[in-house]
Amino acid sequence: GSWIEIGDLQKVYRPRRSAPTQALADIDFTVKRGEFVSVVGPSGCGKTTLLKILAGLIPRTEGTVRIAGRDVLKPIPEVGMVFQAATLLPWRTILQNIMVPIEVQGLDAKAGRARARELIELVGLTGFEDKYPSELSGGMQQRAGICRALVHDPAVLLMDEPFGALDAMTREHMNVELLRIWRESGQTVVFVTHSIPEAVFLSDRVVVLSSRPGRIAEIIPIELERPRD
Ligand code: ADP
Ligand code: ADP
Repeated sequence: GSWIEIGDLQKVYRPRRSAPTQALADIDFTVKRGEFVSVVGPSGCGKTTLLKILAGLIPRTEGTVRIAGRDVLKPIPEVGMVFQAATLLPWRTILQNIMVPIEVQGLDAKAGRARARELIELVGLTGFEDKYPSELSGGMQQRAGICRALVHDPAVLLMDEPFGALDAMTREHMNVELLRIWRESGQTVVFVTHSIPEAVFLSDRVVVLSSRPGRIAEIIPIELERPRD
């Protein structure tokens, strides 16, 4: 069955001081368990809005949004989210930041720390575990944010331009390495990017949105051979 179900989704923002904006119209698609779907489209087409609704961070205007059979009205523990800019807690070290989901969900701290160290190595942050966010560059903070989103192996991972702030080399490296993790862990991923090559490289399917209001223009299945080890 489908792991994520979006049906007839509409979103209208109604700011108090300006005219309403229809950000999403008639959004309809499902994502199978373990599938990697990218969402692409021009700036302002509603990509961030769609992810925030999936993450339970903002309300929808109409339609259904279900993850693992549950109506998404608020954030649910099966979901990890990576934002465009890292949102690390400044008073906590990098390792302590990455451990937040383990603590919040009361998971095994020892296993969590071991997983955190693996991810830290994978994203090239070894040696920075005990530094504070302000001691790291923006790109390094972003990589720490990715570790935090992955540390508790969430069944569903939502990512909003997670590599946007990274230099081209790091971005390429992260794409290749993280694709392997995602395949191994069987995570269901919805990934927002404005890079079509990145979407094609990573995804099983690409959802293309058009703007004003954000509607699905097309859904493209990707059947390229991907590198495996
Ligand atoms: P993106 O990089 O995805 O295009 P923006 O820079 O357009 O995002 O928006 C950044 C944040 O500002 C978004 O999270 C959105 O919620 C908020 N935002 C965008 N447009 C408006 C608006 N017209 N009024 C109020 N908030 C907005
Ligand atoms: P994208 O991520 O594709 O750039 P967004 O989801 O950020 O698109 O925005 C979609 C549309 O909704 C834009 O027209 C944006 O200005 C508007 N918008 C986003 N957030 C808000 C908000 N908080 N209040 C009002 N309008 C918003």
